[in-house]
Amino acid sequence: MSERTNTEPGPAGAGWTERYRGSVMNTFGDPQRVLVRGEGAWVWDADGNRYLDLLGGIAVNALGHAHPALVEAVTGQLGKLGHVSNFFTTPAQVTLAERLLQIVTPGGAPAGSRVFLANSGTEANEAALKLTRRHGGPARPRVLALEGAFHGRTMGALSLTHKAAYREPFEPLPAGVEFLPFGDLAALEQAMADDVAALFLEPVQGEAGVRPLPDGYLAVARRLTRDAGALLVLDEVQSGMGRTGAWMAHHQLDGGAVVPDVVTLAKGLGGGMPIGAVVALGEHAATLLGPGQHGTTFGGNPVAAAAALAVIGTVEAEGLLAHVTETGAAWRAALECVDGVTEVRGAGLLLAVQLDAPVAKDAAAALLAAGFIVNPVREDAIRLAPPLVLTAEQAATFVDALPAALTVARQAVSA
Ligand SMILES: *Cc1c(COP(=O)(O)O)cnc(C)c1O
Repeated sequence: MSERTNTEPGPAGAGWTERYRGSVMNTFGDPQRVLVRGEGAWVWDADGNRYLDLLGGIAVNALGHAHPALVEAVTGQLGKLGHVSNFFTTPAQVTLAERLLQIVTPGGAPAGSRVFLANSGTEANEAALKLTRRHGGPARPRVLALEGAFHGRTMGALSLTHKAAYREPFEPLPAGVEFLPFGDLAALEQAMADDVAALFLEPVQGEAGVRPLPDGYLAVARRLTRDAGALLVLDEVQSGMGRTGAWMAHHQLDGGAVVPDVVTLAKGLGGGMPIGAVVALGEHAATLLGPGQHGTTFGGNPVAAAAALAVIGTVEAEGLLAHVTETGAAWRAALECVDGVTEVRGAGLLLAVQLDAPVAKDAAAALLAAGFIVNPVREDAIRLAPPLVLTAEQAATFVDALPAALTVARQAVSA
């Protein structure tokens, strides 16, 4: 791959990009490439160039591209029954809800636990926020979240998202959300009171640069929320579904002992099919949203549910949790030795490569030209969230390519 120096899209890609500019709303900036096909961790652009996909559609393509199990599940379900209204159900929807309860709580879901199926991460958090509003009503107007939090872009989820640039153009947002310093237990202890409806936490903050909660934080957060009668909501939209080497990232924190009240999922859940889920644990949480209080036309769609079942089944059949743990650990150790890398954060295959200079954007551009898709999640950090099926050999090619990309990036920045 080292011979390639495609720093710009080729002629076919340029043509599509021009048409994109003329037709697609400019919310994402120009697309970096026009992609036409994929297989495993590889994708190809419209000009025939191949890339190793180390971003996986932002932690979505858990099984990689065009995995036969996912293709078969989706096409098979679509060929049989593609959609029904929520006046009806399907075996796929019910089976998925049952499987989600099992994998979110390996020790067994508390009695009365239930699942609500949505279509995306923001919708899952939107539903979770509505659910927490029902907890305590006007007597609990406060909701706590952390600085650096990302919970989505719809108005409710946006109210839980910390970044000013995302929030301010859309104010006023739903009221009551307070942001606490990341990982600061004293601040949490001080803020927690019996007028708090819920605390929203990401076990690993993805968008903030892959920041896992510090040791002990989650366990204390559980104790404080329980004592105050507040709900603990864990947003595992990015970190869940095997990404960190366990079904849920919170299973790896503080001895895996914490049972939250609500877990939200999306991204990797459908392996590329749009789906989100709210998993409410225990009788109380699961009954806060009653008949008529929430809904979605597509939520629980059998094709999306079949995709999620294929993801769960394949992660188990291919032993991907162990594979992610091993591959991630070896990758991390190798990346830590690269000159210019000061730290590697995260777990499993959700990693941030911390650089010694703010050159992540130029490094990502150089890597793209060399055939690697990564994400400059911060000015000085590169995020890796590849398909869980990434091989050790594929991971190693990135370690080999990184030093040259960092050199190019330093030159570009100092020029
Ligand atoms: C991506 C993400 C969301 C939003 O999910 P969408 O499907 O983009 O709406 C919410 N929370 C976390 C932690 C995320 O990473």
